Amino acid sequence: MHRVTILGATGSIGESTLDVVRRHPGRYSVHALSAHRQVDKLAAQCLEFRPERAVMGSAEAARELEGRLRAAGLKTVVEWGESALESIAADGPTDAVMAAIVGAAGLRPSLAAARAGKRVLLANKEALVMSGAIFMDAVREHRATLLPIDSEHNAIFQCLPADDPRCQGGVSRVLLTASGGPFRTRDPHTLHDVTPDQACAHPNWSMGRKISVDSATMMNKGLEVIEAHWLFGAPADRIEVLIHPQSIVHSMVAYTDGSVLAQLGNPDMRTPIAYGLAYPERIDSGVAPLDLVKAGSLVFEHPDFERFPCLALAFDALRAEGVAPAVLNAANEVAVEAFLQGAIRFTDIAHVVARVLELPAEGDAASLEGVLAADAGARRQAHKLLGAQPA
Ligand code: NDP
Ligand code: MG
Repeated sequence: MHRVTILGATGSIGESTLDVVRRHPGRYSVHALSAHRQVDKLAAQCLEFRPERAVMGSAEAARELEGRLRAAGLKTVVEWGESALESIAADGPTDAVMAAIVGAAGLRPSLAAARAGKRVLLANKEALVMSGAIFMDAVREHRATLLPIDSEHNAIFQCLPADDPRCQGGVSRVLLTASGGPFRTRDPHTLHDVTPDQACAHPNWSMGRKISVDSATMMNKGLEVIEAHWLFGAPADRIEVLIHPQSIVHSMVAYTDGSVLAQLGNPDMRTPIAYGLAYPERIDSGVAPLDLVKAGSLVFEHPDFERFPCLALAFDALRAEGVAPAVLNAANEVAVEAFLQGAIRFTDIAHVVARVLELPAEGDAASLEGVLAADAGARRQAHKLLGAQPA
């Protein structure tokens, strides 16, 4: 029996993870679950999966959850806050930790799982973007098993030789596919008018709102370029982004002999999640078999960096090294939240990120404290800029 902890259980990835776990009751049990605000959803998950520990984002939410669970006769220990998240991520009885909190809030708990030597199923790409060197060092030093859950990185991981996941032997390029999101063909002059709901209506994937907006700006692909750099040791000029609107080829690895290996499947996160849970074995994920005839033509195009300036900004940040990726991520989180709140336009997201990247950064990439200082500084700068934005 493998004991699984899910950080961000009430999110899109968290729910898909529980769906896979539910299909294998004799193989997986749930040790701990976390949510931020959604008490109802976490309570329902606790009643079904009966974890030993549960963590909420505030004392009030934790009290409410505890009340519900006690009334139902459950003994689950309920805690709240960041140190409780780190504690469940590193908990002795846990074998695998699904890191599926959205944004920088996931960094400390994801890192805690790596430092405890767990099998880390990493969906929280922002953690790696912010602190790639520190995170990968922790994985090596504490002999954690790091399995990428982001579908592209999971695909690349599957296409690399099992004994060489750091892209050393004969790899010429990593080819990251991108759907292009909902605005791939929309007239760029109308992009300033799009609403949060339009930006979140992804053509192929069903995801949380932050990553959906990131997909619409293609900042998501930019973050994934940086993620691929750290996971696979590939420099920026060996990572290529290809628009592939069908989202059937999840990414590819090109080798020096001319071979290109790809991983294909229906766009459903339960495939990479099941892969991460069972690795190196394969288990049923609930995903329908891929019907290639029905999928029809598979198309690939170069991305348009003018339409998607966030993608160019992410490549720049990767090349700039140091805390630039952490600054990019923090400014983007603030700008996306402001867009979702209706405070700025869609096209302002890229402007805010670009402006913050031009300013002198705080902190340094050598320590977690330095990275968190860069993150906090960039958030302050972004908020300052937003204060000056027309609502
Ligand atoms: P969701 O917004 O659907 O879920 C986020 C989860 O994190 C929820 O459980 C939420 O709790 C919790 N959470 C939110 N804010 C905080 C906080 N400040 N502290 C602690 N917990 C918090 O996101 P997704 O599931 O879509 O994405 C999760 C991560 O996985 C992201 O990093 C994303 O980039 C990555 N990812 C997602 C994919 C997808 O298909 N969805 C694909 C590839 C990567 P509550 O519900 O209570 O608010
Ligand atoms: Mg992805």
